[in-house]
Order: sequence, then structure tokens, then C-alpha cells
Amino acid sequence: MGPPGAGKGTQASRLAAERGLAHIATGDMLRAAVAAGTELGRRAQSIMAAGDLVPDDLIVAMIRERLGEPDAASGFILDGFPRTQPQAFALESMLADQGRRIAAVLVFDIDPEVLIARLSGRRVCRADGHVYHLEHNPPRTAGVCDVDGSELYQRDDDQPDVIRTRYRKQWQDAAAPVLEHYRDAGLVYDLDAARPVAAVAAEVDRLIDDLSGEAA
Ligand SMILES: [Zn+2]
Repeated sequence: MGPPGAGKGTQASRLAAERGLAHIATGDMLRAAVAAGTELGRRAQSIMAAGDLVPDDLIVAMIRERLGEPDAASGFILDGFPRTQPQAFALESMLADQGRRIAAVLVFDIDPEVLIARLSGRRVCRADGHVYHLEHNPPRTAGVCDVDGSELYQRDDDQPDVIRTRYRKQWQDAAAPVLEHYRDAGLVYDLDAARPVAAVAAEVDRLIDDLSGEAA
């Protein structure tokens, strides 16, 4: 858990690849649905552009389907879900039905102004979603994808105002009760996500190794 842009996705996709787990990222799944023009995608599009939260029923249905896929059988990392109490309760009942449980909740703490500096420089290519950063990872030619030559653009949800709104609505307001719920359950590990990616990665690895040790 953590505000959008805190680096959860980077760590989750790395961990998933290294440890044979499914990486279940609701943000990516929603963007794919928008791109494909499905009914879910059309409903989600206008909501996300305003920095608002996609309704629980929509997200829960998507997760239920995803957890049933073969790559999630030996374990999974949820990225961007659950963000609200109804989502958290829906997840618990889904997992209980399958005799599974949440092993840990990693919380990525970061200041909103640090997020804005990170995200407002981000550019994405139209063809395939390749990600650049104006300062940290610029394309060879301004405005053009190195890989496929397609146009680079700034996603609506990477605009500073949308980042601030999303931080407040999705993280401070909506996630607070979920976080409290998981803290009460003793599942939460807090990480300082403002550090460089490698430092965060090392800490995440230590935590997962400890958990694997407990499970073994
Ligand atoms: Zn590209």
C-alpha cells in the first residue's frame, strides 16, 4: 500500500518476476481496460481522469476474476488494492473461501511534494506505454519513444493537481481505515519510499525473506 507513484509497482513487478508470484496491479488492469474500450474501461476512464476512486464493485469483480488465473495459484502481490474498507473485506472473504490469507502489508511512505517532483516529469509512449522521465530517464529525442518512435505524452493522472487530489482522496482519506485494519491485524511493515529504488528493494527483500522463513 502507498500513494500512487510511491514505487510500489516497481518493487512488485521485480518481486513477482524473481519469486514466481503474480503481480496484480489494479491501475494497470484498469488502464488496459480503458485502452481496450471494454464496458469497465469506459466507466473507469472519466472517473480516473478526475483523480477519483473507481467504485468498489467494479474493482472487486476485476480482482475476483484475476485471482482465479493460473499464475496466481502459488502466491500473488496486490498492488493498488485494497484501497477501501469494503474492498478489504471483500478480499478477506474471497481469500477465506480459497483457504488463503494475506502474509504481509508493505506500506510505502512518501511526502506528496516528493511524489509531484517524481511524477510530473514522467512521460509515456502512445504505442506501448514505455515510461520515461524528463530528468532521470529522458528519451534520446525529445517527445519520441526510443523503442518504437511513437509520441510521448503526459498521462492525465500525472498532472500535479491530479497527484495532490489523488494523494488526499485515495491515500489519506480512503486508505486510512484499511491501513488501521491491517495495523490492528499486525500485518503492516512501514518503508521509507523516498529513498532510492535500490535501498527500498533491499529492505523489501529482507522482509520477504523473513516471511518466507516463517512460512517454511
Ligand atoms: Zn514505446
